Amino acid sequence: MKHFTLSLLAICAAAVFASCNGDKPTPDLSIVPNPVSMQGGGRGVALGEGVEPAVKTRINKKLATEEYVLDTRCGKVKITAGSEAGIFWGRQTLLQIVSQVRAKGENRIPGVLIKDKPAFAYRGAHLDCSRHFFTVDEVKQYIDLIALHKINVFHWHLTDDQGWRAEIKAYPRLTEVGSVRSETIIGHQRNKDKQFDGTPHGGFYTQDEMRDVVKYAAERHITVIPEIEMPGHASAALASYPELGCRGADYPYMVQTQWGIFPEVLCAGNPETVVFLEKVLDEICDIFPSEYIHIGGDEAPRSEWEKCPKCQALMKEKGYTREAELQSYLITTVENYLAEKGRKIIGWDEILEGGVSQNATVMSWRGAKGGIAAAKMGNDVIMTPNSHFYLDYYQTADPVANGEPLAIGRHLPLSKCYSFEPFDQLDENEKAHIKGIQANMWTEYVATFDHIQHMVLPRIAALAEVAWSNENRTSYEVFLKRIEAGLLPVYESRGYNWSTYAFDGIE
Ligand SMILES: [Zn+2]
Repeated sequence: MKHFTLSLLAICAAAVFASCNGDKPTPDLSIVPNPVSMQGGGRGVALGEGVEPAVKTRINKKLATEEYVLDTRCGKVKITAGSEAGIFWGRQTLLQIVSQVRAKGENRIPGVLIKDKPAFAYRGAHLDCSRHFFTVDEVKQYIDLIALHKINVFHWHLTDDQGWRAEIKAYPRLTEVGSVRSETIIGHQRNKDKQFDGTPHGGFYTQDEMRDVVKYAAERHITVIPEIEMPGHASAALASYPELGCRGADYPYMVQTQWGIFPEVLCAGNPETVVFLEKVLDEICDIFPSEYIHIGGDEAPRSEWEKCPKCQALMKEKGYTREAELQSYLITTVENYLAEKGRKIIGWDEILEGGVSQNATVMSWRGAKGGIAAAKMGNDVIMTPNSHFYLDYYQTADPVANGEPLAIGRHLPLSKCYSFEPFDQLDENEKAHIKGIQANMWTEYVATFDHIQHMVLPRIAALAEVAWSNENRTSYEVFLKRIEAGLLPVYESRGYNWSTYAFDGIE
């Protein structure tokens, strides 16, 4: 009898096991970025109308930090992950599943076992809040938008020629003066007949607001990396504190009202410049706990340094023969200062010019070549090539005919974003230095959050898939179909303003 009972139990258990785990064809589910594996099986999970399914979560330290397993085979949703971050990414996958099931008018999540983990630990999205100011609420919406795509770094561009956006208590004029420009150029910078709107544009984030953004992002497992530009793109800082410029306190520096690269840079030969940068970074480090601080370093003309007695005196003192060494001096000084605080620098690829330490991480923006060069020199690299991930570029070849809003230029269709190969031209040793991939959203020609969505969606999905899935990508045609089935229902439910060119076959 006992034997019979045990056999019966075994049969029942096997039946239950089979109903949960029996292999079935992989269900027709679209997830972006593409998961490592998806296996059909079991009866799935009933989906009540207007009710999100309950999720049972568990941490399993044997899984990698961001790795997760999503299981809907046995009538419940289970997410097991290496950390809370992994659980969160699993929830983003679930959101896409629930949205597409509902979009099809169905009421059951199919049984599926998804195993997934990211290719890159750094998956970034940048937002320029200097050229145009975006409110804290809009910044949070941007963070939600990137979280949906499993992006885990928000690169916050806070200072530039056209506006200083971060409250610094030691230098109050940065926001009193530097956060407002008197007016803004209308139309494209290239236009011969320059016209301006006559309307001041400004705004800044208080330290409390920036802390609030950091907390909001952390709750979504996103690290905020602030960027404080130096020594170029410094017009707003110099308008606030002209004594920090090579032309001195009497020169009428201004918060710029048009776009481009300006000769006015911080004076490398003035010791007060280093004091200024260190005090600003003290406060920035207090607000932002990220290991990395972005120090800019790009597009800094050296013409002022060539003429400035202070800069020339410093060159003589240090035995420098090229002005590029002044840039290197400033960046290295700041790097060492941040290192004492346990922080590391990221800079645009120009920081390679004049030499940079091995500890600096290089953000390669002028194509991938700066990143390739940096990786060969042994520096860590974040790939953010303008050729593939500058989301301020046009999305179609004929923007006028296709009704695209004015953009900075060039042509970057979704398919081009998707085609990026992060390890191209690198050997095994060099590959290890490619730490991540990032898309950049510059806002010279983008003044509203609605417009940002038009530029970012769906191209950010391509960034997400290269950064999360890389070698596990599908063909572009399949990718496009997966966005339509998996992501568009979420975009729709959130009321996002995504661009339709790629879905209409327009490039
Ligand atoms: Zn100078």
